[in-house]
Amino acid sequence: MGLQNLRLLLLIGAFLGPLVTCDDPEDHPHEDHPPGPPHGHWSYTDITDWHKAYPACGEKEQSPINVDTGDTTFDPTLKPIEVSGYDVSPEERLKLKNNGHTVVLQLPDSLQIIGGLANTYRAAQLHFHWGSQSSPGSEHTVNGQKFPGEIHVVHFSSRFQSLDEAVTQPGGLAVLAAFIQEGPKVNEDYQHLLTHLEKVKEAGQSTEIRGFDIRGLLPQQLDRYYRYNGSLTTPPCYQTVNWTIFNQTVFLSEDQLDILEDTIHHDHDHILQMNFREPQSLNGRLVLSSFRPPVSGRKAPGQAPAPSASAPDPANGPSDRSGEGAPRDDSQTFSTGDMLAIIFGVLFAVTALAFFIYFRQNQKKNPRSSDKKSNVIYKAAAPEDNMA
Ligand SMILES: [Zn+2]
Repeated sequence: MGLQNLRLLLLIGAFLGPLVTCDDPEDHPHEDHPPGPPHGHWSYTDITDWHKAYPACGEKEQSPINVDTGDTTFDPTLKPIEVSGYDVSPEERLKLKNNGHTVVLQLPDSLQIIGGLANTYRAAQLHFHWGSQSSPGSEHTVNGQKFPGEIHVVHFSSRFQSLDEAVTQPGGLAVLAAFIQEGPKVNEDYQHLLTHLEKVKEAGQSTEIRGFDIRGLLPQQLDRYYRYNGSLTTPPCYQTVNWTIFNQTVFLSEDQLDILEDTIHHDHDHILQMNFREPQSLNGRLVLSSFRPPVSGRKAPGQAPAPSASAPDPANGPSDRSGEGAPRDDSQTFSTGDMLAIIFGVLFAVTALAFFIYFRQNQKKNPRSSDKKSNVIYKAAAPEDNMA
């Protein structure tokens, strides 16, 4: 192999660093080197420069995005996400690696998405984005709300032979994303993975862990989600990702979130935190939803609590990790329906009060009408009486 070819391969490997585990030392970050093409490295401290070395990062269909639930389009053809082969036998070994940007779990391509997308997608890896103990770190946001963390399970279309081949092709990738927030209980499915983080503390380190049920890392409900076309959220930012963002969140205990946020280093002295990109402009893209947002603000029928996590314990009080808006206990975010219910409730109450005052004034003018109608009550309905 010629030197030119070798250099090209190293460069491509570095470009795909966040996505593809590569044992090459070039995959390790060297933050002391200037970012850019000569080394093919990037970091979360130079996000505004990403497009210089990776032009796609400056294009118009980038990820992540903010999902404005009031602007989503209900699409009844979006079927529940269905996965197969996710329960990996303990005999199998899965590689867990710190690539300097996140922690990546390599997945066999026997794990597949077989429903909810136009064709079958095969799994390649999963990884996480997080913040710190005082600041939430999800990439996507919902109505401006950021969550403590986010899991991405990366798949490639079975139309292609490999992730490498699919990553540059339109519709080549499908990523399943779920928000992670704090709950009162230990999430046993996550525990298996989190206990190994200490072994991959330094960038470039990897270990092998027993197979386990990857399905348990996702929310229980896979039928309610948002869908849009976007990109890798890290360089090279290729716009080839069909995104699925689940409405239901997963819960980790406070200690588990601490482990996720405080263990991984991006170099020997620096802890890796806040490894997320801010939401990008939609630029006219549609965000579809597989479900109708609740109009009444009541829980949708059949809305089950998260699988490995019940609702956060209110006795714990508000957490720093709840970020800019405290997430609701049923994993639903504050919807347009809630807002409308409150607005209409208040309007109704004001109208009723005005009528009541008018009625009382008339009573004074005409005492008899009071005798006849003393039992007629125009009661101002509290918001909770009708719509909330
Ligand atoms: Zn990601």
